[in-house]
This record gives sequence, structure tokens and C-alpha cells, in this order.
Amino acid sequence: MQDLPEVNGIVLSSAPAGEADRRVTLLTAEMGKITVFARGARRPTSPLVGVTRPPAFGTFRISAGHSAYTLAGAEIRNHFEEIVKDMDRSLYASYVLELSAAFSHENVPASDLLNLLYYTLRALSRDGIPKTLVRRVFELRLLKTEGTAPDFSVCASCGAPLSEGGFHTGLMQPLCASCAAEREVLPLGKSAVYMMNHILSAPVQRLYTFSVNRETEGQAAAVADALLRLNLEYPLKSGELLALAGDQDAQG
Ligand SMILES: [Zn+2]
Repeated sequence: MQDLPEVNGIVLSSAPAGEADRRVTLLTAEMGKITVFARGARRPTSPLVGVTRPPAFGTFRISAGHSAYTLAGAEIRNHFEEIVKDMDRSLYASYVLELSAAFSHENVPASDLLNLLYYTLRALSRDGIPKTLVRRVFELRLLKTEGTAPDFSVCASCGAPLSEGGFHTGLMQPLCASCAAEREVLPLGKSAVYMMNHILSAPVQRLYTFSVNRETEGQAAAVADALLRLNLEYPLKSGELLALAGDQDAQG
């Protein structure tokens, strides 16, 4: 066993393994997504019980064996109790954790994604902004973090500054009102374009500091769905649960 430098991360998922262990997936700034074994973490008296529960955020101490990583300990700075204690918030948190797992990789440092996930969980802990909107902001900013978000500041066809228009799902790009006129597009009003540009360019600490009406949120949701369908290899379990819970109605 070799002790590795401490890593900062969030517990994405945790599943029973062996007799009393847990297999824990962490998103870390330093090592990207990693799987660690928490020995004895299912025994009620284990110090690893609380630190292996999603979405705990903190510093983790890890040892490397010849074939696997072992969790030696952790210092949790935020357990996100407001999320853990609330079914609806937990549902949305599960979705953003699962989406983070789908978009992260082993041995690829992920400080931007970790930061985004942390502020997203903070937003889900409060009542200030609807959870349906948090979901859409997270999805779009995640695509930006991955380098696959379109530019919403200009029309992809004529290059004019974009104020309103539509999103072309064949091109996967936004078009201005005149370029969109003859084509089948998802509508993008002025507020939706403004919102897209905020999501893609605001500092992450200020991402969740706005509100929009349901029509605007619906337009952003349609664009996010189209982009995610293109970027995800499989539908997410927690995404299906959100649909069953009626998220599509954007009720917050
Ligand atoms: Zn145009």
C-alpha cells in the first residue's frame, strides 16, 4: 500500500461490496473520477459510514494497492444534509451526480466540473431557485466544461450577434431570427438567449443567481435535451426518475 497525496472531491455514488465494504466513486479535482474501496464502511461503528454517503464533499485520503484504491479516511466539509433529508432535492442531486459520472474520466483532473457540481449542490440545498431550472443550468454549463456547448452569442449561419431566433437541432447551433425563419427550429426568445449566455459565461459562483419565466425555462430545457441526447451514450436512470416525477412540467 502506498499513500497518495490527499484529494478534494465529492462522493458520486456508493454501493455495497463484499461482506462489509463499500465501493465508492469519487469525483476529484486532482484525479478525475476514481473508484475506491472503503473497508468495513457498512459496519455502523465505522468512521467511514458518514464520509461515503453521496454527495459528501471534502478531502479524501487514499492508498494505492496493486490493483485497487482504498479509502483511508476523509475530512468532510459539507454533508449537504438539506439534500439528504429531502426526497425531491435528493432526486435532483442523484441526477446531477449521475450526469457528472457520465461526463468524467479516470486520471483526467476535473477541478472545473467539481466546482460546478459543488455550486449546483449548494443551489439544490436552498429554496431560492427552482430545482427544474438548476437542472438545466447544470446541464448546459456541464457541456461548456466539456467543450461541447455551442456559442450562443452569434448566429451560426450569418455570424450576426444573436438576440433571438431558434436552435437548429440538425446543426446543433443557434440561428438568428432571419436565418431561422425558413427552417424548423426550437424557438429561442430574447430571454432564453440571454439566459444561455449567462449560463455559459458567468463565474460559477454566480451561475444560480437569476430567475426566468416558465416559457424561457422551457426553451432552454428543449435545447439542453437536444444537446444531451447527442452527448450521452445511454439514458440516465435518475433522468427517467425525474421524468416520472413530472419534471418536464417545469414546476420547480
Ligand atoms: Zn443569421
